Amino acid sequence: SPNDATVLVFGPYNGDGVAELERRFTVRKLEKRDIDLLPEGERGAIRAVAVAGHLPNAVIDALPNLEIVGHFGVGYDGVDAAHAATRGVAVTNTPDVLTEEVADTTLGLILMTVRELGQAEAHARAGRWSAEGPFPLTRFSLRGKTVGIMGLGRIGLAIAKRLEAFGLTIAYHNRSRRTDVPYAYHDTLEGLARAVDILVVAAPGGAATDRAVNASVLRALGPEGIFINIGRGSTVDEPALIAALRDGTIARAGLDVFADEPHIPDALMALPNAVLLPHVASASRDTRRAMGLLVADNLSAWFAGETLPTPVPESADAGLTRAK
Ligand code: NDP
Repeated sequence: SPNDATVLVFGPYNGDGVAELERRFTVRKLEKRDIDLLPEGERGAIRAVAVAGHLPNAVIDALPNLEIVGHFGVGYDGVDAAHAATRGVAVTNTPDVLTEEVADTTLGLILMTVRELGQAEAHARAGRWSAEGPFPLTRFSLRGKTVGIMGLGRIGLAIAKRLEAFGLTIAYHNRSRRTDVPYAYHDTLEGLARAVDILVVAAPGGAATDRAVNASVLRALGPEGIFINIGRGSTVDEPALIAALRDGTIARAGLDVFADEPHIPDALMALPNAVLLPHVASASRDTRRAMGLLVADNLSAWFAGETLPTPVPESADAGLTRAK
C-alpha cells in the first residue's frame, strides 16, 4: 500500500513539500546527496526519491527497489532520466504550476536590467535624491524593442504573452518551429541574437543547450544588446559573457541562473552592468507549495497504480507512466 512506501528525500527540499510527503508516506531524509550515508540495511525499503536539482546516478544504482524519482522543479537536467529508464525507474517533474510565476519574475528582471530599478532604489535609499538630485536618466528603454526568446515552451510563451501586452515585438528560436504563434522563427540562435535587442533564455539546461550562448552569439546580440537568462546557467559560456559585459560586446545582462550555483564568480559580481538574482524565478511560498503538491501527487498516483500526472518525456517514451 502507498503508506508502506518509504520516500527518500534529499535536502535541501521545500519545507511544505516535505510536510506533504510526510502526510502521505514514510519519509527518510538525507541532507547530502551521498548514498553512502544511507546504511545498506535501509536501502531496500526505499521505493521513491524526492529531490530538487542534482541526483547522482550512484543513488539510482544503489537502491534495489527504487521505482520512481519525483523531481521538485520543471527543469530536471540534474536527473539522468534516460539512465533511470534503463533501470525501470520513472522520473516526474513539476511543469505548469510554476509557469506564470517564472514569467512574472522574468518581466521583473527585464525591467530591472533595462530601467536600472535596483540602482534607482539604492539611490533613493541612500538619500541621494534629496542630497544630490534625481537618479540619472536610463540609457535604455523597452519602448520599440524586439525581444528574442530561446525556448518558446510553457514559460517562454507566458513571457511572450506578457511582452505582447507591453507592446513589444517578439521572435524566437526552438529546435522546431511552432505552428500556433505569430512570432518570427529563427532556426539558429545566432540569427535570433542578430535580429533582436533583448535575448531571453527560457530553454532547458543539459547537453543539448550546453554553452549555446557563446562568444559569437553575444557578438551577434551586439553593443546595444541585453541578455536575460532565467533558464539554466549551463546554457551560457559564463567566462565569455563576463568578457562581453566587460568590453562592451553587449550592453547588459540580467541573470537568475549561474553555471556553478550558489557560487557567482567575483568577476560577475564586480560588473555594474549585470543584474544578479539568486535563482528566485519560482520562489514564492504559494508556487513552491504547488510544486511540492505535484511531486507528492505523482508519487501517490504511482503507488495507487494510476497514470502519472507529469512524467518526463524520457520516462513516457520508455513506457514508465504507471507501476507495472
Ligand atoms: P518546456 O519544455 O515547455 O519548453 C522548453 C522550450 O525550449 C521548448 O520550446 C523547446 O522547443 C525549447 N528547447 C529545448 N531544447 C532546445 C534546444 N536544444 N535549443 C533550442 N530550444 C530548445 O519547458 P518550460 O517552459 O516549462 O521550462 C523551461 C526551462 O526553464 C526549464 O527546463 C528550466 O531549466 C527553466 N526554469 C527555470 C526556473 C528558474 O527558477 N530560473 C524555474 C522554472 C524553469 P524544441 O523542443 O522545439 O526545441
